[in-house]
Amino acid sequence: MYTCNKDRLEDKIVTFSKFGDAGHGGITRYSLSPEAHQARDEFVKRMKAIGAEIESDDMANLYATIPGSEPDLKRIVMASHADSVTNGGNYDGILGVLTGMEVLETIVSENIPHRHPITVMIWTNEEGSLYPPAMMSSGVICNDYLPKEIAKKFKKEDMLASKSAQDPSVTFGDALNATPYKGNEKNRLSPDKYEAMFELHIEQGPILEDAGNEVGAVTCVLGMFNYRIKFYGQADHAGTTPMHKRQDALYAAAQALCYLHEEIDKLGRPELVYTTGEIVCHPNVHTVIPDFIDFSIDVRHEDADLRQKVLDIVKSLETREWARCKCKVEMAWARDTVYFNKELVEYVKGSADELNISNQYINSGAGHDAQFVSYMLPTTMIFVPSKDGHSHCEPEYTPVEQCTAGASVMLNAVLKKDKK
Ligand SMILES: [Zn+2]
Repeated sequence: MYTCNKDRLEDKIVTFSKFGDAGHGGITRYSLSPEAHQARDEFVKRMKAIGAEIESDDMANLYATIPGSEPDLKRIVMASHADSVTNGGNYDGILGVLTGMEVLETIVSENIPHRHPITVMIWTNEEGSLYPPAMMSSGVICNDYLPKEIAKKFKKEDMLASKSAQDPSVTFGDALNATPYKGNEKNRLSPDKYEAMFELHIEQGPILEDAGNEVGAVTCVLGMFNYRIKFYGQADHAGTTPMHKRQDALYAAAQALCYLHEEIDKLGRPELVYTTGEIVCHPNVHTVIPDFIDFSIDVRHEDADLRQKVLDIVKSLETREWARCKCKVEMAWARDTVYFNKELVEYVKGSADELNISNQYINSGAGHDAQFVSYMLPTTMIFVPSKDGHSHCEPEYTPVEQCTAGASVMLNAVLKKDKK
């Protein structure tokens, strides 16, 4: 068994935390921004220093590859993203890149024999913070392999037209044309050239920390559905309309939301998660009774039967009036649970066991590029703990010992795959 170097990994974490440093412990590093270019320049510098070959594709995804002893074999790739949300932390995404670099550096410096070429890759625009949607590049690169409903949301021409959230006169395509990292379509991650993908990521939840485990072998990305629930009332004057005559769509929605929580909680499944995070209120004026409410519900669980039970509850809202208002339920989108490649999951689990690193199976409630890639290539993920479960915020933290444990697990899992 081989292990990665804690000090060398820590140096990378500290160095990369400067690119987009927001001044209070975290970063804002949008894809294709000057800060993102600094991070990419540093990546290229360090990877060239170990003799890696650098390539990029038409979405500016960036690849560094070291050769194996059998040049005709396909590559094994470790990939994650280097962009962040606004005021994000120093671990989400970038840790998967830095641990991938650390794995390559360990292989080269310790002369570890391996047959396949091994690559570390930076995905462009995973967060979609400036140019939506999230997981843009993997959606484009894996498009031919994705379920139709998902694929149509990631057509390359639509992605190129995505407008900057800061300046709508600038598109993602403009930013892509301006970056020195835009390369050739023939360099894309593809099943012709690549054998398998690993993505190390912070958990973004509290499960590993609560269980006292250092590493999670990720089995799947949870299936989910997203519905819109709409209420139709009557707008009237707030001062002149008696309470018993009102058709207040917001009051109706509030009642229905409480009902949803009560009924879903009766299913008694604490691992089921559901969220109403968005609400539209019309006319949204403090002197007018609202005549229209539209709120979201996002429901996630591995088991399709359980998701259907929740959906039945959601749909049942339509069958009655709420505070004299009509209700309509509409699907926004849904996706099935995406299971990772069993062989790779076992390489992760087995490597952690053999290294005596405490571990468990875990699923991912959040989306990652790996879930799109898994439609195209054998893929899996490795989670390391998130302190207090925090992510997408500046307090994001994973002790360097746990980062190194995750890197060592990825190194040995890659080497197990390499032997096959
Ligand atoms: Zn991420």
